[in-house]
Amino acid sequence: MKLKKPDSKGNIIVGSTAILIVALLLISIFVITTITFIQNSNIDSESNDNFKYIIDDYSANLEILGRDAIAEATQKVYNGLPIRDSQNQIKKNLNKILDDKNEEFKKKYDIDLTSEVLSVEPTDSPWKVLFKVKLNGKKGNEEFSQIIERNASIEGLRDPLPIAKLTIASGVMAYDDKIHYKTALSAYMLLHNFDSPESYIEATAPLTMKKCPYDPYVHHGDPGVLRDCLDTGYFHESADGSCYLCRLEGRGKCPHYGMEVFIQTHTPLGNESLSCSDHVVFADHYNGERINPNDWDSLILDSSHRKKYGLVVNESY
Ligand SMILES: [Zn+2]
Ligand SMILES: [Zn+2]
Repeated sequence: MKLKKPDSKGNIIVGSTAILIVALLLISIFVITTITFIQNSNIDSESNDNFKYIIDDYSANLEILGRDAIAEATQKVYNGLPIRDSQNQIKKNLNKILDDKNEEFKKKYDIDLTSEVLSVEPTDSPWKVLFKVKLNGKKGNEEFSQIIERNASIEGLRDPLPIAKLTIASGVMAYDDKIHYKTALSAYMLLHNFDSPESYIEATAPLTMKKCPYDPYVHHGDPGVLRDCLDTGYFHESADGSCYLCRLEGRGKCPHYGMEVFIQTHTPLGNESLSCSDHVVFADHYNGERINPNDWDSLILDSSHRKKYGLVVNESY
């Protein structure tokens, strides 16, 4: 027993010293690892933040520049030039616009940017077009490559369909924020043997893309709503109507989710003619009747559109 005491005391001292050393070692390893980790993540987040700021700035620009690229295509249609592949045309327009933007960023951030527009696509919303752009950047030894996606709004742009479909030579005109069909639509209807083409002489339609706020559309039957909708010139979402990209190509109908607009007639002639939703006039071709036969400006509509917009027969707006 006497011999064992110093032994056990010694063991305790040796044991606790060992534990202390191991603990110190573990603490040191932990501290060193933590410091290294913090340093590394600082470096990472610093360089990411540098590029993030630039990428965010570029993405915000893409929203506006994408819309500019669409507007250039619309202008081309209004200049009387046909567009066969609107997605490709807008891609080309945007690539040019982005080349200038890359130069601007070179001056602003001292970064070498190259960009390539990957796609221009319709979306679930007829009011938005999706842009995908591959952006490569190089600043000093650091580089990045990223695909940016942004939606651009088509609201506020002119409707290209009437011009793209009928051509500028047809005499269709755009002024006072309206499309004035003059004799262009009746000539087109005459050519295709549709009923009462004379009803559409001097017909008008909204020019600028504005989303109708009276949603659900069945509210157009409420007092004053249809009048305000026609006076302001709103466009409506429609699975049957064509999207903005296809409108640029002169297509009244397309597989994408699109929009429709009322073409308003202003004659006392013929109560039965093509239903006045633009996809019906330009693509689907079925008849409707004047909502109010005694009103020159009353819409010519078929029963399913009347139902959609809450407009019952013989009701004046
Ligand atoms: Zn409306
Ligand atoms: Zn389409």
